[in-house]
Amino acid sequence: MIKIRAFKKNELFLMSLVSFCLFVFAQLCQASMTSDSALTLLKEGNLRFSQGKLSSPNQDIARRTKTADEGQKPFAIVLSCSDSRVPLGLIFDRGIGDIFGIRVAGNVAGTDQMGTIEYGVEHLGIPLIVVLGHTKCGAVTAVVEGEHAHGNLEKLVEKIVPAVKKTKKLFPNLPEEQLVDKCAMANVRQVIHDLKTQSPPIKKAIEKGELKIVGGYYDISSGRVDWLDSLSENGLRKGK
Ligand SMILES: [Zn+2]
Repeated sequence: MIKIRAFKKNELFLMSLVSFCLFVFAQLCQASMTSDSALTLLKEGNLRFSQGKLSSPNQDIARRTKTADEGQKPFAIVLSCSDSRVPLGLIFDRGIGDIFGIRVAGNVAGTDQMGTIEYGVEHLGIPLIVVLGHTKCGAVTAVVEGEHAHGNLEKLVEKIVPAVKKTKKLFPNLPEEQLVDKCAMANVRQVIHDLKTQSPPIKKAIEKGELKIVGGYYDISSGRVDWLDSLSENGLRKGK
């Protein structure tokens, strides 16, 4: 017969001490999240997603309750397109309270998007901004094809026009699908430039070494994000 013995006082003390140390360690890890470690979490999550090996962290009831009671401490801001094939939490395999997401057609940075990002940087202390474009983007394709937009959409797509004009000039003979890819990547670079130059709080946080901005390009077919630092200006992977 198995006999369950009671824990001795010193064993209980030791267990409490270990739990306390783990708690403090977890808090310190969260507090000391750097731009690079935040990017690593996104890269690892996207690798799991693209390989179909989701671990679905921070998606349970305990996490929901914790973030509701204690507030949010997301580690990355992601500005992406509203396209339904680009679900942020899923493609980075993250959960509740991890990603501060801003979604808008063509992942442009107008006043509202920039203000939202500034809130994330200044008030939530988020160390990383990702501007994420994607393949087969409808907004970019519409501008490449010269479609006329009406209403409020017209103002939105105007922000994509400079990147498309510049890219068409550089690559006048490309087939449309490749041209759309290059325009979408140029648009990501344009948005990063706008964030760095048009937002004083973002500029300040970068200068203090508290913030990094990176560009990503999501392939809606493979599920993989290519990071623009691994792509050359013409959109080809370096070394290929
Ligand atoms: Zn899109």
